[in-house]
Amino acid sequence: MEVEVGNIRTASLEEIVRESEVLSRLRHSRRFKGPCGQCRYNMLCGGCRAKAYISGDLEGSDPTCLLYMQTWSREEGKN
Ligand code: SF4
Repeated sequence: MEVEVGNIRTASLEEIVRESEVLSRLRHSRRFKGPCGQCRYNMLCGGCRAKAYISGDLEGSDPTCLLYMQTWSREEGKN
């Protein structure tokens, strides 16, 4: 997963971790979109960000979550 969070040549690692907008967004897992953002296990799990990223949105839901799949398939069954 290649996501630019800063430049180690121009900033210290501490500065990058503290000031990166991307890393800041990833620290706020309650703001993730879809099921991961609303999940009761959000603060413990949060979903795999790499899998969300390859699905098109770094802050989206983890498409391989079994809980997510069960919930999603149950919701689809209602239609
Ligand atoms: S990956 Fe699944 S269990 Fe983890 S936060 Fe997302 S929906 Fe919840």
